[in-house]
Amino acid sequence: MTDLAVAPTDYSHVPAGLRAVRDRIDAACGAAGRAAHAVTLVAVSKTHPVEAVIAALAVGQTVFGENRVQEAATKFPALRAAHPAMRLHIIGGLQTNKARDAVRIADMIDVLDRPKLADAIADAIQREGRSPDLLVQVNVGDEAQKAGIPTADADAFIAACQARFDGRLAGLMCIPPADGDPAPHFAWLAACAARHGLGVLSMGMSGDYEIAIAHGATHVRIGTAIFGRRD
Ligand SMILES: *Cc1c(COP(=O)(O)O)cnc(C)c1O
Repeated sequence: MTDLAVAPTDYSHVPAGLRAVRDRIDAACGAAGRAAHAVTLVAVSKTHPVEAVIAALAVGQTVFGENRVQEAATKFPALRAAHPAMRLHIIGGLQTNKARDAVRIADMIDVLDRPKLADAIADAIQREGRSPDLLVQVNVGDEAQKAGIPTADADAFIAACQARFDGRLAGLMCIPPADGDPAPHFAWLAACAARHGLGVLSMGMSGDYEIAIAHGATHVRIGTAIFGRRD
């Protein structure tokens, strides 16, 4: 993994970054009248080397998020052997031809957003004999360039996925538009999850996780505030 031609990157800031984020999560939970353990911190280690993950593991972080299945497959299986409590979320757009690899290595796939991907995941679950938890990603801003099921189709798609995957459909995920107030989008997703009796709400990133917690996020996905800027 390590390219010796490149100076080793220093990840000594990770413990302090994690502590600061955990403190802010606790404070946001307190302000919202929620228990701090109601929110799971997903440390988004995409683009960072395995050393970054090791630095986080060393201070008790066990839940990680990666965008690319291929990248996750190079970092996680070896670490998981030594850290059985480790959990991996796949949080980035998933091609159907990567569904089987995702089902093999993920504990949660946050990005189920179209019928063809549901087919591929169902097929992969059969073949692998392994069932990660699943979240339906909703394109809450109905943005042309973004992944996620359009809001108009969300209720029908969620109901179909619940019927198909039974208890494995755990909840919903969203990435609100970069501009503007994310709060109405978080509120929309929370109401949608409640309509369907779904308990997991994966919403909130480095820039908006306190707002997401105020709106009921159970999982916040945070990269930059922990690991620093990505190249
Ligand atoms: C990269 C990414 C994150 C983390 O974003 P930060 O702003 O670095 O905290 C969260 N969710 C998804 C889906 C991402 O792709």
